[in-house]
Amino acid sequence: MKPISDHETGFISKEISLIGEMKVYPIRIHVIHEENQTVQFAVSELKKYLTAITGQEVKINVKENYNAMDPGIWIGLPSVLPPVRLSRERLEADDSIWIDVEGGNGIISGGNPRGVLFSVYRFFTELGCRWVRPGLDGEYLPNVSLSSKIVKLMESPAHSYRGICIEGSVSLENVTEMIDWMPKVGLNSYFIQLREAYLFFKRWYNHINNPLKSSTEVYSVEAAEASVRKAEIEIKKRGLIYQAVGHGWTCEPFGIPAQTWDKWEQEVDPEISQYFALVNNERKLWDGIPMNTNLCYTNSYARAKMITEITRYAADHPEVDLLHVWLSDGSNNWCECDSCIKVSPSDIYVRILNELDEALSAENLETRIVFLLYKELLWSPVHEEIKNPKRFVLMFAPIHRSYRKSFKVEGELPELPEFVRNQITLPQTVAGNVAFLTEWQRHFSGDGFDFDYHLMWEHHKDPGNTMIAQILHGDIQHLQDIGLEGIISCQTQRSFFPNGLAMTVMASTLWDKKRSFDAIAENYFNSAYGKDGSLCRRYLQEMSELYFELDLENKAYLQKKGKNDVFQRIYSLFHQFEPVLTRNRMHDCTCHSTSWRHLKMHAEIWGELTSALEELYRSNQSHAQTKWEALRLKLWEIEDQYQPVLDVYNFVWVFDGIFSEEQA
Ligand SMILES: [Zn+2]
Repeated sequence: MKPISDHETGFISKEISLIGEMKVYPIRIHVIHEENQTVQFAVSELKKYLTAITGQEVKINVKENYNAMDPGIWIGLPSVLPPVRLSRERLEADDSIWIDVEGGNGIISGGNPRGVLFSVYRFFTELGCRWVRPGLDGEYLPNVSLSSKIVKLMESPAHSYRGICIEGSVSLENVTEMIDWMPKVGLNSYFIQLREAYLFFKRWYNHINNPLKSSTEVYSVEAAEASVRKAEIEIKKRGLIYQAVGHGWTCEPFGIPAQTWDKWEQEVDPEISQYFALVNNERKLWDGIPMNTNLCYTNSYARAKMITEITRYAADHPEVDLLHVWLSDGSNNWCECDSCIKVSPSDIYVRILNELDEALSAENLETRIVFLLYKELLWSPVHEEIKNPKRFVLMFAPIHRSYRKSFKVEGELPELPEFVRNQITLPQTVAGNVAFLTEWQRHFSGDGFDFDYHLMWEHHKDPGNTMIAQILHGDIQHLQDIGLEGIISCQTQRSFFPNGLAMTVMASTLWDKKRSFDAIAENYFNSAYGKDGSLCRRYLQEMSELYFELDLENKAYLQKKGKNDVFQRIYSLFHQFEPVLTRNRMHDCTCHSTSWRHLKMHAEIWGELTSALEELYRSNQSHAQTKWEALRLKLWEIEDQYQPVLDVYNFVWVFDGIFSEEQA
């Protein structure tokens, strides 16, 4: 075998190792002494994937200074590297990436440590590597000869807020695999909701919604805390923006924990309940649930208790970059006392935020606070203004919105409904929701992002997952039109069934909003499935369109009695695709074989689920329920086969709801 020449390896080196008869030069990575752990991690990832795709030895050299004469890949922050030949301005933006590598020589850098890590992953993406879902079986790593490759690019992301919020049911591995996956696709922020994320871990470790696995062992808060500490290590290692908490500030200050949405079974001392909202002449926990309870916020002692607790938390947790301060998770539960009825919910919320800002400033705490536009708080304040906008980030959470239209709003926005205390109803239309946001933005000009739920419940109603991905794409493309700088997706972490198209679309469009859905989808399907990727895309697209007609969101299929050809078309689609599934049973590549295995399982599950839904459609409620229960049992039995990509807790919750509702 002919030895590789200096020309082919792209650099000159005296260091030569022998593999059989072939002389192979090590690839060299140079890093100027750097203590930042994210840059260090970027270096180790660069080495790991270079080794994997080239099969060559990779050596890391720590240097004092940059030396253009020293061949290899130089990696680090721009301050230690030569001036960028392209625009300096773009590089200085947060998360910007800079790659200038030719034949194994050059520079990998970024606008901040996280940007350096993004650059490493983008370098490998340009070389043909893909991460189609979290975990090793989602990695597609081709064999690459570095000597012939040129990667030169400099980019900044279109949006500043590109993140995931923990929801659903999770193991620690589900969380850490998601955190590991995020920077590979350009996502920059992870939100651990609720103090210990206890509920989300408990759902998994106690196997709630899977009685075949459930145990009597009680999952402890301490175990959840330990998992959160481990997740934080992974967040910080990657330099991700760490967001925390959310609800719970209305009861934790009074010693009532807000770890779940369960009812509080213990007696509440009247010394405490005197600070709860007065609703229907009673001051008590709302529906017995601490998380959903509002306080009598015009009571200065109640506000002070909250603010002291939030300030203490911020002081104890300097690792938190964005601290969420939300009120109750209920609605129509605002205090009706003589003092509170004179103040609108958002006015009193802004008063709390201003007092919190003063308290944090007094302690020299720079923690940024995220405030929530949600339910009653969608109506903007009437009198109060946020005094220090730099402290705050606006979060728009249109939880009642429809997912059948994107944020592209045409024509005039509708008038806002009148606010009537404890009698609100919220619009489902996207325009109706955006109207609230627009009014709020007249009172706040700081940063804002969308907190949205595409992949929380709605994706389960779109088995092709392509329609929800298209809505998500359209939403992100129009975020800046409505004054928002990104999305934090409140979602099940395991939203990769049958594939990660929607997640990939989200990451890709948040990075580059001009990229078309078609371009992202085509790339994704080819990456995830290999040569029959385009057939998969057509099949899932068609399935999405048929299910869009059924409209599980509005249960419209129940009103379309007599027009059952949709079901026949769905069965026919499954039937037509069977040969493609059969011929793709075996793949050498783990990434592709796993994608096909998931798709086959998906066809089996959705074949049965469609049959159960057809019974519902025919008003055969008991047959529908029987078929759903048989499928649910199967899902429970085979959970280990799909656990990393589908959240059975969440899936069962959604379809238990659909099948148990009284039918018209
Ligand atoms: Zn009150």
